Amino acid sequence: MSPDAPQPRLTLASECPKTLPEVFMTFARHTSPRVLMGLATALVALRLHHGDFSPWDLAVGLGLVLSWPAVEWLIHVFVLHFRPLPLGARTWDPKVSRAHRAHHEDPWRADLIFVPLHTYVFTLPLIAGLWLLSLPLPLALTGLASTAALALHYEWVHHLVHTRYVPKTAPYKAMWKHHRLHHMKNEQYWFGVTTRLADRLLATDGRREDVPTSATCRTLF
Ligand SMILES: [Zn+2]
Ligand SMILES: [Zn+2]
Repeated sequence: MSPDAPQPRLTLASECPKTLPEVFMTFARHTSPRVLMGLATALVALRLHHGDFSPWDLAVGLGLVLSWPAVEWLIHVFVLHFRPLPLGARTWDPKVSRAHRAHHEDPWRADLIFVPLHTYVFTLPLIAGLWLLSLPLPLALTGLASTAALALHYEWVHHLVHTRYVPKTAPYKAMWKHHRLHHMKNEQYWFGVTTRLADRLLATDGRREDVPTSATCRTLF
């Protein structure tokens, strides 16, 4: 784009949903939340229908919950904040990373908040394959249903943060503040969205007053 070309208008925070019903309506209007709601519901139903439960189901669910902070952190740091890589005459700049930069640039624009749809084309077969090839069917279904539920929760929390609705409960208020600091204070900190555990372990958590304000929160680089 020429520097003289008119810049696209950025979305104002005042345009975001303010009440919980408005937040839910916006959430339910977008395709990615619909995909995740459908998947989570179908996989939980499938798991319950299949039966054959054992204590290992609990172990699979617990293992996933414990590893989720690392999953969020690693994807955010290494995939979403991927720095374009020159490869000869070309540059490798994955679409999902560009979508995340657009989200940082225009953090109140609803359609940039959700998981980009193109990622489902490779993540769904990859995740399904990993679970189904590594565990017996009942446990693989538990893993799949738990993954879908955690992904749906991530999608909901991330959307909630980018609205004017302030959560009432302490854990959600903490998530809300945490991700807003990532967007508004310093994009090199506070990578977790539904949990701050990985940030604490990997030294990317901090008190607002101890972390320098970044000039590149909107652009990333
Ligand atoms: Zn965000
Ligand atoms: Zn980010």
